[in-house]
Amino acid sequence: MPISEQRGRRPSPSGAAVATPVHSRLTVLSGPSGVGKSTVVAELSRTCPQIWISVSVTTRHPRPGELDGREYHFVDNDEFDRLVASGALLEWARFAGNRYGTPREPLNSKLEAGVPCLLEIDLAGARQVKRAEPDARLIFLAPPSWDELVRRLTGRGTEPAAVLERRLAVARDELAAADEFEVTLVNTSVQDVCRQLVALIDNSCLRKAERGRHSGPPSRRRHHKPADRRTP
Ligand code: 5GP
Repeated sequence: MPISEQRGRRPSPSGAAVATPVHSRLTVLSGPSGVGKSTVVAELSRTCPQIWISVSVTTRHPRPGELDGREYHFVDNDEFDRLVASGALLEWARFAGNRYGTPREPLNSKLEAGVPCLLEIDLAGARQVKRAEPDARLIFLAPPSWDELVRRLTGRGTEPAAVLERRLAVARDELAAADEFEVTLVNTSVQDVCRQLVALIDNSCLRKAERGRHSGPPSRRRHHKPADRRTP
């Protein structure tokens, strides 16, 4: 059974509980490197903690400030091979010389529990998820302009020139793929995009945030990923 069609209960006309699919829909956020996906996801994690955000596995080395198990599970090539061979990854892709993948098991258990789930992955990964889970909702995060994307990528200053070149080449291809996505959100403001994203995934926390504004400041919560993870 697809992971998006898990069983739940609803009352029948006679009052007895009958099984019915609980549509805890899987959402995939993709878009070019540097567009601000991780900043949007960090904001989403802060404002809407009931949306579960998958932590990927990667062979990339941690950047300063990144923690194993928080931004990524950092593994070596042998471990990544093992995960692929054992089918532990829902999808995986190469990106700018490293490999990245989505662990299958934690995602499945969250979806089975009816929790709305979000993956933040590259285009190749998004295509694989769509093939495996046709009900998954694919959302494309676009930059306000190409120049702005280049500025964001170069402004980060964490990558050597060759890596940056590769990322820009990939970004060019990724921008051309926006048509494959159900929804495109333009990242003009992190808060606006986050609100639109939440409205698509789980409206209930928008209502909670609204109530919170009237009843005092929201509780502070650690970001799932720091705002500087992959953004300017
Ligand atoms: P970074 O190295 O900047 O953290 O991430 C590079 C790219 O890998 C980003 O576009 C990010 O969305 C993508 N990525 C992160 N995790 C995954 C994953 O699990 N699968 C795939 N296919 N891409 C991922």
